[in-house]
Amino acid sequence: AGQRGISGIDFYSTDLNRLLQERLALERELRHALVRDELELEFQPIVDAQGQVVSAEALLRWNHPRRGRLGPDQFLPLAEQSELILSLGQWVLHKALAVAVTWAECRPDPPSVAVNVSARQLDAGNLYGEVQRALQSSGLLPARLELELTESVMQRAESRATLSALRELGICIAIDDFGTGFSSLSYLKAFPVDIIKIDRSFVTDATTDSRDAVIVRAIIAMAHILGIDVVAEGVESPRHQTVLRKLGCNRLQGYHVGRPETAEQFQARLRAPDAT
Ligand code: C2E
Ligand code: CA
Ligand code: CA
Ligand code: CA
Repeated sequence: AGQRGISGIDFYSTDLNRLLQERLALERELRHALVRDELELEFQPIVDAQGQVVSAEALLRWNHPRRGRLGPDQFLPLAEQSELILSLGQWVLHKALAVAVTWAECRPDPPSVAVNVSARQLDAGNLYGEVQRALQSSGLLPARLELELTESVMQRAESRATLSALRELGICIAIDDFGTGFSSLSYLKAFPVDIIKIDRSFVTDATTDSRDAVIVRAIIAMAHILGIDVVAEGVESPRHQTVLRKLGCNRLQGYHVGRPETAEQFQARLRAPDAT
C-alpha cells in the first residue's frame, strides 16, 4: 500500500514494514540456529586475589551464516520477547554444564561455571527442574554452578522460593550488574545470596572518583560481613585491578584479567603449567 506515496506516512509505514520483516526473519533464523548448531558459548575467567581462576562466566554467541558472529545484545532482546528465550536458556544451561564438567580433567580443583538466567526463565516456573536435569545429565557438582540473576529478578517475591530451593541443592546465586537496579540493598536482607557482581560502571568510577570508591568500599565491607563474595566486573586495566583489590574485592573479571574465549582456549588456559 502506497509504496510510492509522497506523504511521509507511507515511507514511515514502509520502513516499519521492513523492520518487522527483518525481525520476523531474525526470529525464524534464531529458531533454526538452535537445531543447526550455530550457537556457541565463550568463557570468561574470574580470578581470586591470588590470580587463580575460580570461575568462568558462560557468554552466548551466534555464528550467523550471513551476518557473522553476533553478540547476545544483538539477538537476546528479540528472544526475550517470545518463548525462544526459554529454548535458548535451556541450551545454554546444558552446554555450559557439559563443558564445565571437562575442566576437572585440567586441574584437581576446577573452577565453577557461571550461567546467566533471564527473568523469563524464572517466570516459566520450571527453572528448578531444568537445572536439576542439567546437573544430572552432565554430572557436574551443584557447588560448581553459579546462577547469575539481575536485581529486578531478585526483588520479585515469587522468585525467592525457586532460588531458595536451588540454593538448597548447593548452587550459588549471584546478583548481576549490582548497583544498577533501583533498590540494591533491600533484598539482601530478604534473600540470602552467595555472590554480588559489582557493575562495570562502578568499577570504572571507583578508580577516578573518591566518592565512588567510598561507596564501593562500603558495599564490599557489608557484603563480606554477610558472607557474600564480591566480583568486580569490567576490570580493564592494571589500575582497575590495583584499586579494586585495595578496596577489598576478592574476585576480578574483565578484559585485563582475560577476555571471553572459546571453550578450547579456556581449557588450554587451565592446562597451562603456570596457569592463573
Ligand atoms: P553481563 O552478564 O553483564 O556479562 C558481561 C559482559 O561484559 C559480556 O558481554 C562481556 O563480554 C563483557 N565484558 C567482560 N569484561 C569486560 C571489560 O573489561 N570491559 C567491557 N567493556 N566489557 C566486558 P557480552 O558477552 O556481550 O554479553 C552481554 C550481556 O548479554 C551479558 O551481560 C548478559 O546480560 C547477556 N548474556 C550473555 N550470555 C547470556 C546467556 O547465556 N543467557 C542470558 N540470559 N543472557 C546472556
Ligand atoms: Ca552476567
Ligand atoms: Ca554483569
Ligand atoms: Ca551488563
